[in-house]
Amino acid sequence: MRKKIVAGNWKMNKTFLEAEELVAHVAEDLETRKLENKIVVLCPPFPYLELATDIAKDSKFSVGAQNVYPEDSGAFTGEVSPPILSSMEVEYCIIGHSERRKYFEESHEFLARKLDSLLKHNIIPIFCCGELLPERKAGKHFKVVEKQLNESLFHLKKDSMAMVVIAYEPVWAIGTGVNATAEQAQEMHAFIRGLVEKKYTKKLAGDISILYGGSCNAKNAKELFSNPDVDGGLIGGASLKAEDFIAIVDSL
Ligand code: PEP
Repeated sequence: MRKKIVAGNWKMNKTFLEAEELVAHVAEDLETRKLENKIVVLCPPFPYLELATDIAKDSKFSVGAQNVYPEDSGAFTGEVSPPILSSMEVEYCIIGHSERRKYFEESHEFLARKLDSLLKHNIIPIFCCGELLPERKAGKHFKVVEKQLNESLFHLKKDSMAMVVIAYEPVWAIGTGVNATAEQAQEMHAFIRGLVEKKYTKKLAGDISILYGGSCNAKNAKELFSNPDVDGGLIGGASLKAEDFIAIVDSL
């Protein structure tokens, strides 16, 4: 069944005490809500994962990492493996975020390896895709997203693909205050779902969750989430304030 998900990507923000306060605040607010089939995921920086998973045990949210290295163990100084994440009860992991593609030059092939390594350890990948502004202006956005899916995701067998969450994040909307319109989001989400159907099955395409990310906030979330193919959001800036993040959860 398709799941409704709101995931908060904190990126490289918050000190330890601030992180403690934010997780506790979100946990407390979620306590008063009936989430039914909604899933809430917090993705703090690596050093705060244990703090988050500890609180998550008695709360209504799950924990995700923002990155992973696609090897089980070994001499990879500074990196974190899927077995380390699963040993800490981390259930989700963001990969393919545009910031990692840009600043860390992560290739399609490297992202495919990350996906495989996460799925081997039953961690749910939140796979980000999305076009740059010049690509949208040139009308190439569908082609760009199709290539990202073809080269990093569509090698997966059906059972593995069924575990994946896709996040459409137009790069021009990330952190800019300019979100995609509800129509632009719906159009791309329907396109992505169509590609999944063509490659796999109608059932799998109907079951997969496709999140929208890019300047989604407490004001625009309801309109974005009201589209039939938008199953929630990957939230950056607005996940750093509990009230804003919870308002977005309430919009789903
Ligand atoms: C993100 O980085 O995944 C994101 C969606 O950021 P923001 O919400 O700040 O645009």
